[in-house]
Amino acid sequence: MASSLRVASSILARLPGSARLQAVHPLSRPAGHRALLPLTAGSLRSSASGAVGDVPVDASALRKGELPLWMLYGVSFNSVMLISGDLMDFMFASQLGLSPLAAAGIANAALGAAGICSLQVLPGVLNMPNKAREPEAFNAKLQGRILGIWLGFLIGLWPLMWPEEWRLWKAGAAATKAAIQPPPTKEELEVRKICQDKFPAGMTGPDVEQVLYSELRSRGWTVQNTLLAHATCPDEVNYDSDADLVNVLAKRWGKRFTLGGLAGMAFAGKTGWAAFSAHTPEKGGRILVLYGPHVGVGNDGTVGKVRREGQSHDSTCCGAAVAAFNAATVPSGDDWIVDMQQIALTKLLRPLKPVIEADPEPMKALAYANFEISHQLLSKQLASPEKVCAEIAVVGGIMVNLPGNLDDQFIPLTFEVLDCTTGEITDCFHRFGRTRPEHAFGSSAPRGAFFEEQAGEIRKALAARR
Ligand SMILES: [Zn+2]
Repeated sequence: MASSLRVASSILARLPGSARLQAVHPLSRPAGHRALLPLTAGSLRSSASGAVGDVPVDASALRKGELPLWMLYGVSFNSVMLISGDLMDFMFASQLGLSPLAAAGIANAALGAAGICSLQVLPGVLNMPNKAREPEAFNAKLQGRILGIWLGFLIGLWPLMWPEEWRLWKAGAAATKAAIQPPPTKEELEVRKICQDKFPAGMTGPDVEQVLYSELRSRGWTVQNTLLAHATCPDEVNYDSDADLVNVLAKRWGKRFTLGGLAGMAFAGKTGWAAFSAHTPEKGGRILVLYGPHVGVGNDGTVGKVRREGQSHDSTCCGAAVAAFNAATVPSGDDWIVDMQQIALTKLLRPLKPVIEADPEPMKALAYANFEISHQLLSKQLASPEKVCAEIAVVGGIMVNLPGNLDDQFIPLTFEVLDCTTGEITDCFHRFGRTRPEHAFGSSAPRGAFFEEQAGEIRKALAARR
């Protein structure tokens, strides 16, 4: 420790700021200079007029002398903070559930505190002339330090400008640039109000993600053991913002498998599920599936339409669902190869058409009908999850697409986890703090659990083994 202090001291002595500091500070001044700054009443009087003793104080030199050391401090402090906060975010955030701000705070607590502590033990660094006896020297050094710290901290922001392609780690807090969003227009605010009236249970993508992550993390789900799939409509409005739910989930879990087709139906089918499930991590693997349709709210407030970027009119949303609902006849299927998903969607939707038509808000009813079909279709496809994972969770709902700078909403309708080793189902829907219809669309019977069949199979197999 003593030798490292001596090394630090010798480095500091070579810096112009330290040299000047030693020349003026009575405690650190070399013996040969002591006579130049006698601490007498005379020196106190003369210091007020800009001179100490017989030697005038060179305030400008004192100020400049402080700059290098304190700039160095500012640059190193800020750059170490940014880089270590980003590294902490990259390495531990997903495992420990840290926000980028929390990662930065922890890095600051560890390294920022160490930096400030080191200043306390480096000899002479914090020394200042006596304020009463040498006010001009004191002020000059103080000004030099303040300027040095400000400049240093500003230059220390350089990691924010570091090119993405040169980064040693590819994801983290510093890689996440918030999109610059102009505030919503008056017309858009009107649309948001209509959306809140029609879909009061709506939540933003990040809010939904927070609920899912906090539940799944507490059950041991990590980026390493989890695979995400989504059965959502390929329409670009579902993926055109960082806050869209699929994008937020993909950012959390790192990768995604697309099971979805038109209107949010899992048209990848049994083969899609088999392929996806076979990709699950082998040791204690977990599977998360998001599913459900989408519906827009147009600029005139019409449900089932949306104003797309660069267009001057509203267009149908979800277009495939509206077309399937409006189709005069059920396609024969002879030409299935040219339009297989739409043909299947029209066939699936047809039994619910009378109920949708009878509803006072048919386009809203169409979204709920689509959800029901998507729910049933996926539930049938996710067969024997116990063969591929330790736990599986599904999150279902309706995505509501809003125009311009408004965040899309998600109306949660299911959030269920199945323990594949015991067959135990946990309904986590209450975690959203929202209400949902008690019954499945077009039915008077309460909807059963999503994993009812799968859980039954697991329990049956367990009972047979006993
Ligand atoms: Zn669609």
